[in-house]
Amino acid sequence: MNQSAVQLQRHSPNGEKLLFSRENRVAAPSLDTVQQVDNAEREFRRASQSKSERWTLRTPTKRDIIRRLENVSAEDASRLKQCCSSFRVLTCGEHTLRSYPTFRCKKLFCPDCAAERATRLGNQTEAKIREVMKTTSGRLCFLTLTMKNAATLGGGLARLKKDFAKFKRSKKDWKAHIKGYFGAFEYTFNPKTNDFHIHLHLIVLRGKFWNQSDISDAWRDVTGDSFIVDIREIKNTHKGVKEVCKYPMKPADLMTMPDDKFLEVVKMKKGTRMFVSGGCFYNVKLDDDADDADDNIFSKFADLTEGDACPFCKQELFDVLVNRQQHIGLHELNAIPSVVKTNSS
Ligand SMILES: [Zn+2]
Ligand SMILES: [Zn+2]
Repeated sequence: MNQSAVQLQRHSPNGEKLLFSRENRVAAPSLDTVQQVDNAEREFRRASQSKSERWTLRTPTKRDIIRRLENVSAEDASRLKQCCSSFRVLTCGEHTLRSYPTFRCKKLFCPDCAAERATRLGNQTEAKIREVMKTTSGRLCFLTLTMKNAATLGGGLARLKKDFAKFKRSKKDWKAHIKGYFGAFEYTFNPKTNDFHIHLHLIVLRGKFWNQSDISDAWRDVTGDSFIVDIREIKNTHKGVKEVCKYPMKPADLMTMPDDKFLEVVKMKKGTRMFVSGGCFYNVKLDDDADDADDNIFSKFADLTEGDACPFCKQELFDVLVNRQQHIGLHELNAIPSVVKTNSS
C-alpha cells in the first residue's frame, strides 16, 4: 500500500479527526504524484464494500488513459492531467461542506468528468420527470434501441440519430404509443470485430401498451437491418434515470481500441449532442454544458462561504486548496458522506 494512504488511514480511526487546520493550508498541488494517487484510488476502491465500486478496479485509471493519450494528442493529455488535480474545499476543519475541482477538462472520456456529469444529469432529470408525472398519466418504461455495429463512431451515431428521427414520425407506431421520451446514446467497442456498438437508452412514458415484438418490427421497418430492442416497465424511477444518465462509454473500451478509433473518440467534437428528449418530456432539457455550472455536488451548502459558521459545529469556515491525493483522503475519511448523513437524519 502506498505510504500516504496508510497515513490517511492512521489519522482516521473513526473518521472524525481534524482534516485541515488554518495553519496547514496546502500549497499548490504538484502533479508528480499521479502514480501515488492511482495507488491510493485503487486502495480506496478495494476497501469499499460496494460491488460496483469493486468492479471499477478492473477499469483503467485516469493515469492509464493519460499515458495512452500522450502518444496521440499531447494537448488533450495535458488537459486530462490537470483535470481534478486540485480541489477547493470549504471546511471548518472537521466537516467538509463543499469541494470542487479547480479545473475540469469536460472530456467525454475523462473518468472524473463522466462521473460528475452522470450524477448531475441524473439529479436534474429525476426531479423533472417526477414533476411531469404529477400531471400526465401513463407507464414509465425503459426502452433500448440498438443498431447494427458501425465502423466509425461518428458514422454510426449519425445513422442512429437519423433513424430515430424517422421512427418518431411514424403515426401508427411511435406516436400511437409514446407520450414523451428522453434518452442518451451509449457506445461500446468490440475489439474482435473492430467496430462500435451504438445504442439509445430511453425513458418513455407509454400510453397504449406496445409489445416488444411490435417495436422490433417497427424498428426494422425504419432501419432495414436492425431489430434488437428492449422495453420494460420502470419500477424504480431513480434506478431507471441512473441507467440512462450513466457514462456514454466505459473507460475499459478506450484501452482496447486501435489508435485510429481511439483518436476518433478523443477528437469527437465538444458539444456533440448526446441527449434526446420530446413529447411530454420536452422540458426535460438535459443541460450537458457544464461550463458555468457549479461542480459542487452538495448544493444545499452552495450559499455558504468563507467566514460563515459551520451548520454542524458553528466553527468558522475557511477555504483550503488540496491536491488530488488529499481529496481522495477526504472520501477515505468518510468526511463528506458523514456530513450528508448528519444533515438528512
Ligand atoms: Zn476531466
Ligand atoms: Zn463543523
